[in-house]
Amino acid sequence: MLRGRLPLKISAAAALTFACGISITAALFAAISELEYDKMSLSLQQRAGARVAAIEQGLDDAVELLTTTNQLFAAVPQVTRAQFQDFATPLLQRHPFIQAFNFHRFLPHAQRAAFEAELRQIVPDYAMTEMRDGIVVPVTTRASYLVVDYLVPLHSNRAAFGLDVSQNSLLAQALEQAIISGQTTASGLLTLAQGPQRGFLILRPVYRHGAPLQTLQQRRAALIGDTAVVVRADELVQKILAGADLLGEPQLALSVYADASADPRQLIFGHGQAPADATSGTWQSLPRWLQFPYHSHYERSFACAGRSWHVRVEAHPRPFLADHLGSLLTLITGLLFSVLTAAFVQSLTQRSRRVQLLVEQRTTDLKRSNELLSADVRARKQTERALRESEKRFRRLLALSSDWYWEQDANFCFTHITSGFSDKSNMPLERFIGMTRWDNNPEMRNSRWGKQHIAYLESHLAFSNLEYAMKDRNGQLRWFSVNGEPLFNELGEFRGYRGTGSEITERKLVEQKIQHIAHHDVLTGLPNRALLRDRLAQAMALSRRKNRALWVLLIDLDRFKFVNDSLGHKAGDLLLKTIAARLQTSLRESDTVARLSGDEFVAILSEQADEVLSDAIVQRLMHAVAQPVLLDGKEFFVTCSIGVAVYDMSRYDAPGDVTLHGETQNLIEQADIAMYCAKKQGRNNIKFYTTAMNQATLERLRIETALRNALEREQFVLHYQPQVDLASGRIVGVEALLRWQHPELGMVAPQRFIALAEDTGLIVPIGAWVMRQACAQVKSWHAAGLDKLRLAVNLSARQFNEPNLVASIAEVLLETDLPPACLELELTESLFMHDVALAVSQLHDMKALGVQLSIDDFGTGYSSFAYLRTFPIDVLKIDRSFVGDVARDADDAAIVVSIIALAHNLKLRVVAEGVETAEQLDYLRQHGCDEAQGYYFSHPLPAHEVELLLRSDINVAA
Ligand code: C2E
Ligand code: CA
Ligand code: CA
Repeated sequence: MLRGRLPLKISAAAALTFACGISITAALFAAISELEYDKMSLSLQQRAGARVAAIEQGLDDAVELLTTTNQLFAAVPQVTRAQFQDFATPLLQRHPFIQAFNFHRFLPHAQRAAFEAELRQIVPDYAMTEMRDGIVVPVTTRASYLVVDYLVPLHSNRAAFGLDVSQNSLLAQALEQAIISGQTTASGLLTLAQGPQRGFLILRPVYRHGAPLQTLQQRRAALIGDTAVVVRADELVQKILAGADLLGEPQLALSVYADASADPRQLIFGHGQAPADATSGTWQSLPRWLQFPYHSHYERSFACAGRSWHVRVEAHPRPFLADHLGSLLTLITGLLFSVLTAAFVQSLTQRSRRVQLLVEQRTTDLKRSNELLSADVRARKQTERALRESEKRFRRLLALSSDWYWEQDANFCFTHITSGFSDKSNMPLERFIGMTRWDNNPEMRNSRWGKQHIAYLESHLAFSNLEYAMKDRNGQLRWFSVNGEPLFNELGEFRGYRGTGSEITERKLVEQKIQHIAHHDVLTGLPNRALLRDRLAQAMALSRRKNRALWVLLIDLDRFKFVNDSLGHKAGDLLLKTIAARLQTSLRESDTVARLSGDEFVAILSEQADEVLSDAIVQRLMHAVAQPVLLDGKEFFVTCSIGVAVYDMSRYDAPGDVTLHGETQNLIEQADIAMYCAKKQGRNNIKFYTTAMNQATLERLRIETALRNALEREQFVLHYQPQVDLASGRIVGVEALLRWQHPELGMVAPQRFIALAEDTGLIVPIGAWVMRQACAQVKSWHAAGLDKLRLAVNLSARQFNEPNLVASIAEVLLETDLPPACLELELTESLFMHDVALAVSQLHDMKALGVQLSIDDFGTGYSSFAYLRTFPIDVLKIDRSFVGDVARDADDAAIVVSIIALAHNLKLRVVAEGVETAEQLDYLRQHGCDEAQGYYFSHPLPAHEVELLLRSDINVAA
């Protein structure tokens, strides 16, 4: 669109149009003006002509009148005064411009008196007069006179009656001319005797009757007078014109002269005022070409009564419009027309300019939108191409993947499934088209997940990863996973579903495998702890629902560690596998047997409608386990201890299926407690859980809780038991033994809490405390002069799992400044049951510190003498169970002797524990035992008491 107005610019076309218009208007104006002036001139001429003609006619009439009067004298020999009066009076009435009819009589002086006398009869005081300088005066005596004899009317012309006019040159001249020409002749303008008006006379000679008149002389001789009419000049013309109705135009000035020239003295008539200057005026200012030849005056001379007359007619300028309306209208119309036409042309050009601009703008707009359009088209093409490619990709992808695409109508019946489905599923498409998903998979209608899915569809919700299995053409189970979303038309009405599907059998199998691994023990293939918990929860729920008994058995193999250690892991594994298989086969299919850990198994026995649970079933299990196992070609007999927990449904009266983790755990714990009791009672035993057993567990729990706080509450103390060198009988070392002084429980023996501390991991911080405390104590004794005193500290196997054990020992040594050689670390054989390689490396690291290593309670473990060679051991401590019986039991005595021999053979020091009697001491001394400790020498004592003993420096052995 055009914005705003175009700036006003006079176009060339408009200017040209205007110029043309103006030119034509000017031409027309000039032409019409000329015509107008012509018309004006003509009109003036016509009007003036009419006036001149009237005047001429009037004068002719007057001449005719006089001529007629003169005829009277010619015809009648003696015209009397009365005759003349009778003749003239009617003429006077008809021609009012005539002042008087006259008969001038030529009178010789001789006849004057008679004449005067005669006239006195008419005018009693008559005396002849004459005019001198316009005034009537008595006449001077002359030879002859020309007197006004007859005068009609008399009364108004009394002044002229009997007047001698012979001296009037104008009259005389006219008379002479009349005589000469024989014509009626008019005189020039003269002052009349009878009044102020001026007038002229028309006269004709009167001759004596009968006298010859051919020659001039004859006529002169025959002259007796003349007849004359006195004409009031202005009145004459006035009357003539009024009679012809030619006086009505005030704008016409008329002047009549009794002379050929316009001599003002001869002006006989003036009508209207002559315009001041006819040539000057309005038109003076006009350009020359507009000054038209307009003759505003008209002049004509004509002859009459023997003289020339002159008429001058002048036109007063009329209001301009009166004569120039045409030209003016033309001018105005022309100007207006020019302006309008120019304006029209201007508007046309302006419009066309506007249109052109608009067209240009539109063109640019069009070009722009065209460009946009083509860009759009390009973009669209690109999009289409991208779409096609993406579709192609999508198809390729669909073809490559195991996926397919499907569509369902509003009734969830398949309307379309891409071919990928039949390829991947090994099922014909026809089986599905027109069917719902559950038509081909009836399980969906009954299962919870299926019903849920159908409800989802009916709510028109999108769903994903719906997994289900179907049997294919070959009856092989195949798994599918489908995703779908609802379809709605533009009105928001539900039109069906569409989605993708994939065949996931392989994945499902892998998943199942993983699931199996996650839930099963790798070695035995039995359910593991996690699955056990599930199964147990299910069994408990079922038991509650059906009100049937449920037993949980905890089966622990007796002395499995011994097999494992002595025959190796492989044999141990084989043993576990064999036992697992036996357990499984000896139970019913509905029962579950799981491996809990190591050599612990759990069996869940649910009561069946046809079989009540009884001891017999448990016995059967025990019996199955007790069958010999062939390991390394040798028969082994393995027994087990079984704890049974009976599920008491009445205690868990919660309705429904909900079985808490705590409940299952509780049941297993009960079985565990029962098994523990069975073990305590001497293995290969069955124990049913009782509440009393639980009591013991509760106490354990109480101790455990207290133990957690013992360290920070500083309830631990160390007692020291001296170690005596048997050769010198002197105390060479002390063993640090932990004591727990509990405010309520009193002094708690290590047997009651060490195992617990190991189980809970508390032994780690406690052990560190012992180490620091003991080292500091012994160092202070060193400082107090008891140098060379050795310190033995017990290390629990659990402490070995701590990666920074060696570093922390080094730190303590550094801090306390105790010489490493004075520190002896007591280790148990269980240390070597786990990771032998790791143990060896750790022992070497410890040895590198410079400390000594001893094997505690040697002989009780499933000792393998082999490791003594490989491990960097310094001391063997013979377990006190051997020492205690050394005097009475030959076997034990033999074992002690062989241990001492072995140790010495390996260059190891031997320390005997639990020496209570002199016989024992003797026996040990006899068989070369290096050192001994026991009540015989001293109980473990608090530090200050041991110190006294040390300072007494007595020979304890003596
Ligand atoms: P152990 O290492 O074998 O310690 C020797 C045990 O035998 C001590 O029992 C000691 O009082 C006892 N004993 C010493 N002489 C005789 C005797 O002549 N006759 C009898 N019947 N017993 C004697 P205690 O102090 O009750 O310690 C028991 C166990 O607790 C220790 O056995 C040791 O394994 C553990 N223990 C004690 N203190 C610590 C400690 O600081 N750390 C670790 N890890 N274990 C410790
Ligand atoms: Ca010890
Ligand atoms: Ca011991």
